[in-house]
Amino acid sequence: MRKEIIIVGAGVAGLCAALEIAKAGEHCLLVSTNQSERAQSNLAAGGINADFNNVTTHYEDTMKTGAYLANEESVKELTTHAPEMIHFLQDLGVPFQMDGTQLASRKMGGHSVSRTVFAGSITGKAIMSALIDEVRRYEAKGLIERLPHHCF
Ligand SMILES: Cc1cc2nc3c(=O)[nH]c(=O)nc-3n(C[C@H](O)[C@H](O)[C@H](O)COP(=O)(O)OP(=O)(O)OC[C@H]3O[C@@H](n4cnc5c(N)ncnc54)[C@H](O)[C@@H]3O)c2cc1C
Repeated sequence: MRKEIIIVGAGVAGLCAALEIAKAGEHCLLVSTNQSERAQSNLAAGGINADFNNVTTHYEDTMKTGAYLANEESVKELTTHAPEMIHFLQDLGVPFQMDGTQLASRKMGGHSVSRTVFAGSITGKAIMSALIDEVRRYEAKGLIERLPHHCF
């Protein structure tokens, strides 16, 4: 019997999960109430935090701004891998703002240094467009099946 992997939600998290599974050569179903283009992820405007110089202070700032309620392991994972996620998105064609040859960054939320990278004021939309394009490539290969307008 073939095992079936089902992902619920087709925003930035669901699309990234589907891509990881498809890249491993597995088939998955991507189930969502709305089409990806309608997910909240498209609305993110400010940018994404990623520290290319000091992941420790990124971790500390994130814990502090979350009033130390966030899961420590998850925040560690997120802050450690944020820079490689930005490179992954850049490789997919997300047009992050550049400052010469470096990524431009600004300060957002309660963070102590500038570490928010952004694509104008449409960061979420730019990321979602790139991820949807990539998911379509794997959809064409039969590895991802999208099921919008379905509720779990
Ligand atoms: C206005 C706004 C601005 C923001 N700005 C920023 C920012 O600058 N930087 C930042 O880092 N974050 C920002 N955020 C937060 C960020 O957008 C979210 O944290 C992120 O997009 C969440 O992604 P997600 O994939 O988990 O969820 P979503 O993008 O919300 O996707 C959820 C998916 O689940 C599906 N779904 C929900 N319920 C069901 C169900 N019962 N059955 C099946 N499918 C279901 C939905 O259809 C959707 O596809 C902002 C959010 C908003 C609203």
